[in-house]
Amino acid sequence: MSQSLSAIPKVDRLLLLPQVVALLSTNPRPVVLQAIRTALDGLRNEARNETLSADALTDAALSVRIEKELTILTTPHLRRVVNGTGVVLHTNLGRSPLPSIVREQLDEIAFGYSNLELDLATGSRGTRYSHVEELLCELSGAEAALVVNNNAAAVLLALSSLAAGREAIVSRGELVEIGGAFRIPDVMRQSGVHLREVGTTNRTHLKDYRGAVTDLTGLLLKVHCSNFAIVGFTAEVTAAELATLGREQGVPTMVDAGSGNLVDLRPLIGCDEATVQEYVGAGADVVTFSGDKLLGGPQTGIIVGRRAFIEPMKSHPLLRALRVDKLTLAALEGTLRLYRDERRALAQIPTLRMLTATEETLTARGRKLAGRLRRRVPASVRITIVKGTSQAGGGSLPLLQLPTALLEIAVDGLSPQEIETRLRSCPVPIIGRIQRDAFLLDVRTLLDDDLPYLTDGLHSLSKN
Ligand SMILES: *Cc1c(COP(=O)(O)O)cnc(C)c1O
Repeated sequence: MSQSLSAIPKVDRLLLLPQVVALLSTNPRPVVLQAIRTALDGLRNEARNETLSADALTDAALSVRIEKELTILTTPHLRRVVNGTGVVLHTNLGRSPLPSIVREQLDEIAFGYSNLELDLATGSRGTRYSHVEELLCELSGAEAALVVNNNAAAVLLALSSLAAGREAIVSRGELVEIGGAFRIPDVMRQSGVHLREVGTTNRTHLKDYRGAVTDLTGLLLKVHCSNFAIVGFTAEVTAAELATLGREQGVPTMVDAGSGNLVDLRPLIGCDEATVQEYVGAGADVVTFSGDKLLGGPQTGIIVGRRAFIEPMKSHPLLRALRVDKLTLAALEGTLRLYRDERRALAQIPTLRMLTATEETLTARGRKLAGRLRRRVPASVRITIVKGTSQAGGGSLPLLQLPTALLEIAVDGLSPQEIETRLRSCPVPIIGRIQRDAFLLDVRTLLDDDLPYLTDGLHSLSKN
């Protein structure tokens, strides 16, 4: 027998429940009231659908319901999740986890004052960009460097500063969309730069650029196609060839490198990705790249290049709108310092460590992890190791398929979709993938300290 709307208690009575009184002593009243109202909305919906049982209206059941709503209201909205997708640079999951070595520096800077814009040597005003400029120059081989919020901002600033009111020559095959509505032609328009397309989708030659140079030309632009690949009958002009043409014509050359790696990954994972140092060495006047893609640091856009072109960017009015925060700078500096020793970078930067992990390492880790989980969760949750592949993601290395080890999770009576939904609704959500009708967790992107969350999550699957 379903209960009617009139059986549902009023707010005033709920406020007198002992458990609710207890909640009021530790939570702001408006928040508790909001929890009560949400709980009441749920009860009213059930009454209207004729599914409201008398059991749901006992004091104990009402208190539990209100407490649940309060937990939802007081849990941070942005929170930790376990990445079991195998996509290393998962934009939806926050791209690069930071190296743990930056934790201490982040802590210092976040909870105290800092010399963010104070020159400690002279006592006069300094600039926030100075903290990483030398390091970036040392690592990239460039004369000058600047950091903004993300690479989209870096491209916007660089284009505005280098070629506003003039033409930038770009290959038709490089007029890319990065995602999140970032399209090179749109950013150019936004920067006041006129787009001069040359070549075709699959082939562009040096003579195409040369033929397009006029008095109006302000920039030769090369955009690295980091999130897709054109294969087959293709031709593109290298950064070195473009830079040579630029010097010959007295026009600067810019490369949007996109993912921006400081370590040569080609011998390590068999991808075909030039390093930032190579673009600088090839003579590009300005190179832009992301801090949280292959670099493995915080979200930033890094601009390196010739001083004559970077200096005007430092006084460009747009820079103030794109400036990075002190936490970002602290995390970036800590990450960049690791690159002074390539072995340390590969071992301590999670993004690099995950990307370069071999199948053998991952299988061994998977076996160990499966063993630990089997000891901690009921046998009704079956955990087996299977082979598969993972991806770099985040608009990087689109063709790369990295051999990996996966934990296949199965529970009698639960479909892979139900497992996916349940794990996604855990207090620390676990995000995996479903493939060939199996729910999978890719060992590559699981972090060492994910074990307790995995244990709790898999445990919850065994309950009814
Ligand atoms: C990813 C990417 C961007 C945008 O970088 P964000 O740091 O995500 O803003 C721009 N250009 C290229 C070529 C990219 O790959």
